[in-house]
Amino acid sequence: MTEVGDMALKSQIAVVTGAGRGIGAAIAQKLASLGARAVLCARTRGPLESTAAAISRTGGRAEIAECDVTDVQSVERVAAWVERTLGRIDILVNNAGVGDFGGPLHQMPPDSWDRVLNTNLRGVYYCMRAFAPMMIRVGSGHIINISSLAGKNALPNGAAYAASKWGLNGLSYSVAEELRKHNIRVAVICPGSVDTELSPHTGRDPSKMLQPDDVAHAVAMLVTQAPQSFASEILLRPTQKP
Ligand code: NDP
Repeated sequence: MTEVGDMALKSQIAVVTGAGRGIGAAIAQKLASLGARAVLCARTRGPLESTAAAISRTGGRAEIAECDVTDVQSVERVAAWVERTLGRIDILVNNAGVGDFGGPLHQMPPDSWDRVLNTNLRGVYYCMRAFAPMMIRVGSGHIINISSLAGKNALPNGAAYAASKWGLNGLSYSVAEELRKHNIRVAVICPGSVDTELSPHTGRDPSKMLQPDDVAHAVAMLVTQAPQSFASEILLRPTQKP
């Protein structure tokens, strides 16, 4: 491992989707604290402004880019803005995601299926499609996709969510092989339950659950690896079962 100093990511550009709250906000703050300029993406401006303010309070740099990852034109607009204004992208964290844990699949309305799959899977495709060419041009980059242990296991009453994350894992492993020759490392992080607004986490003790910062720490580990190594997947569990 290279030594992880305070400014290990100095002059790097990091785009983080879903950066308005929860895991994405923690990841953006962590990358900014390591010196990266964070581009904060989500659909709603207010929470992005809160994340940007938290970053600037600690001396970091952040830009806000309203973006809906399910809308190809919205994603392309942000990518064009990043290229025009910042000139490059070093780190893309595909974190934006939605859950639906309302019951068995046969009772799920098609609109809900579309919302989950379009955000958690199609959205990642749109973002990689828009940003990978910029990384290929400079011959380096990290793409980190926030999946879930639900992408490894069965999840009754969350089948569409599980399908989106199993799909995301397959997408990530395949694109990792496509891009490694360009010196771009595509990795997935599969956390267990994290204490955020994504779901009510009924019956779990929040004090034992993973915290957003734990996932941010895993992202920091991946983007500060020595150049010749490639950790492609992290399964992240809380020490104590919640
Ligand atoms: P939150 O619900 O707390 O935050 C989700 C973020 O994604 C928000 O900033 C939201 O902002 C944004 N978002 C949602 N839809 C879109 C969209 N279409 N375009 C752009 N941004 C969008 O979720 P978490 O922080 O818990 O989850 C983050 C990721 O981690 C997800 O991929 C989730 O599946 C994964 N994960 C979460 C776990 C958990 O237990 N919490 C466990 C394992 C994985 P806005 O609504 O303003 O767009």
